[in-house]
Amino acid sequence: MEIAIIAHDGKKTEMVQFLMDFKAVLQAKKITLISTGTTGKNAEKAGFKVEKFLSGPFGGDAQIAARVAEGKTDMVFFFRDPLGMHPHEPDIAMLMRLCDVHDVPLATNPATAELLIKSI
Ligand code: PGA
Repeated sequence: MEIAIIAHDGKKTEMVQFLMDFKAVLQAKKITLISTGTTGKNAEKAGFKVEKFLSGPFGGDAQIAARVAEGKTDMVFFFRDPLGMHPHEPDIAMLMRLCDVHDVPLATNPATAELLIKSI
């Protein structure tokens, strides 16, 4: 199972904490993590193995959106910062739209991600 993790700057600490909290599940279920560039670097520093794509503003969200469209990604944890401005807003909207088009579970905050991860 492949799960994409993406966190805006204001949410990266929460993403790493989330991964730590559910490390046992991720390992037990042999989850493959993919991510945008900087989110992935943060996860790697915390000891997780992650396949990194480009940083979000440089196309990382679009790359992950393509994987969702191709049926390669099973779930997306996208911790958005609702208080920040993002130059790549069109890519973010595309990723969320494609999750809906392809009926791929999408969590945009830790509370929802927790419910999803507990379901696998
Ligand atoms: P980043 O991208 O992980 O490279 O910071 C996330 C985003 O802003 O979409």
